[in-house]
Formats: sequence, structure tokens, C-alpha cells
Amino acid sequence: MSELFARLPKTELHLHLEGTIAPDTLWAIAERNAVPLPAGTLAELRALYDFKGFDTFLTLWLAMCRCLQTPADYEQMVDAFVADCARQRIRYVEAHFTPYNHERFGFGGRRALDIVTRRLLASEEAGGPVVRLILDIPSESVPESGPYTAALLEAIANPLVVAIGLGGPEDGFPRRLVATYFERARQAGYAAVSHAGETGGADHVRQAVEELKVRRVQHGVRAVEDESVVRLLAERQICCDVALTSNTFLTPFRELATHPVRALLAAGVPVTLSTDDPPFFGTDLCREYERAGAEAGLSDQQLWQINLNGLRHGLAETPVRRRLMQEFLEAGRQAGLDAGATIGS
Ligand SMILES: [Zn+2]
Repeated sequence: MSELFARLPKTELHLHLEGTIAPDTLWAIAERNAVPLPAGTLAELRALYDFKGFDTFLTLWLAMCRCLQTPADYEQMVDAFVADCARQRIRYVEAHFTPYNHERFGFGGRRALDIVTRRLLASEEAGGPVVRLILDIPSESVPESGPYTAALLEAIANPLVVAIGLGGPEDGFPRRLVATYFERARQAGYAAVSHAGETGGADHVRQAVEELKVRRVQHGVRAVEDESVVRLLAERQICCDVALTSNTFLTPFRELATHPVRALLAAGVPVTLSTDDPPFFGTDLCREYERAGAEAGLSDQQLWQINLNGLRHGLAETPVRRRLMQEFLEAGRQAGLDAGATIGS
């Protein structure tokens, strides 16, 4: 099974670009820029990456944003990320990026976005992965990060940015806190997506759908705590971008055998599989597919539909999604995988 999905083209809709920086890369960038890290040696830094809780994770994540100080740092981050996509045959990605944090630590949010965009576009033109961007409001910095992100989205005409998102902690940050900024972004022509139902409960998922009017939810797994929220997701065909290994650290679902992904699928909720912040959770997308089959009990056919959901529910421009769909369907046919009845829906 794992070998099959390792060689098939894949999609990933829930991954944080800053969260792809591996400890060795971060160590090199921090040394180059003489920025102190919350670790004295590379070994200590690697140990910090072993997930210990959301607070430690957030401290490290913010330290990482602080380290990015020159255009070359951002380019190094993008280059490592696209190389990893190529290694795993990931063809379509929607990456979350948080300009507010780069503004906050002095580099400039728009400047960071422009560098990342140029590098990703050059990679795509050279046959690399198709990457589109979701600009996140970090919840821990609301209210300042809300108007900043909305104004940025209103001001730019960036070819890769497809949506506004909401990241950061959920506890103490009801999703509706950012409703006005999401409304501004939607008025400016962007889709909306939001993290919900990870460290927060089903009510956060309902708020994301009803008040933020999202097209997809990142995680969403705790929707299963309220049947009516699962029905809402199914009725409106709101896709949940599930990150299994990340969930074993941050949600009550520690065992994949009892993870709600199968319940969501059975209820008719579309799902995709992602890594969230791969080096922090010791995973990559191939491993997520492997675990989804071996531990969560999903069949190859279900996994293939989940993979195609990344194109069906992805937010890239239609011709790009059509082209990728053709490429994926051809690869699926050669591997004996059924395209399924929902194609084109
Ligand atoms: Zn996430």
C-alpha cells in the first residue's frame, strides 16, 4: 500500500510553509543571522522539535519566524519545501503562510510574501509542484493581525494567493473573533478557510462554517462531538483537511484505529490528508498515507478518493485543477484505481 501512494501524484491542502523548516535548516539560518534560538546546540534543537505541547510548539514556531531575516532565508525555506514535494511526488499544495508574523518581527509581511511567491512561481514554471497560498490570521495576535491581513489581501493582486485562513491556538479564541476580517477578504474576492475542531470543540467548526463562511476546515475532526455539526459539513460539502499524526499529539484522538476520519467519511463529509507541520510531528505525506491505510483502516480506493479531493476541493484556478485532474486520473488508471462516481461533482 505505502509503495503505491508513494509513487502516485498527490495533493496536500493543509501545510504551513513556515512549519516545513527542518531543525538543521533552522540551525543554519539562525547561525548565519546570529539569532538566538531556545536551544544551545543542534541536538537540543532537534529535541525541541519532538512535540511536547502546543505552547512549546508555538514558542519554537515564533522563534523560527524571527530567524528569517534576509531574502536568502525565505528562498532557502521555499527551495527545501519544493525539493521535498518532488521527493514525495506531491503535485498540488495549498500552503498556509502568515505574513503578520513576518511583519511583526521586522522583515515585512508583504516583502516576505513577494519573495516566497517569486520563488514558488519560478519552481512551478520549471515543472515543480503547483503551490497556492492561504494567508493566515494568527489567532494569538488578534486583533492586530486581523485588520493587517485583511488590508494586505485587499491591496495585493498576487497570482498564488487563493484564500484567507485562521491559524494559531483555538482555546480562548472563538472563530467568530475574525468574522469582520474574513468578510473583508471575501468581498475582495478570496475564498475562506479556517482551522477549527482541533484543540477546540465542534462549536468552533460550526462557527467557521456559519460565521466565517469557510469552504474548507483545517482539521475539523472534533465535529464528531456534535452530530448536527457533522450533518452541517456533509450537507454543505465542506471538506476537512485532516492531519492524522498531528492529531495524535494535539487532539483527544491519540490512536488512529479510533480516529474520526472514518466516521466523517461515512457521514458523507469530504476529507483530505495532510501533514500540517511535518518536521514537528516527525512525518511526511507518504507516511500519512501509510498510517491512514495501516492504522486508520482506510482502503486504497478511499485513499485515492481522498487524494483526488485535494483537486476537487482545492482553490486553484479551474484550468490548473483540470490539467492536474487529467494527470492524476491517468496515473490512477495505470495503477488500477477507480476514479469514483463523484468525479466532476
Ligand atoms: Zn494547521
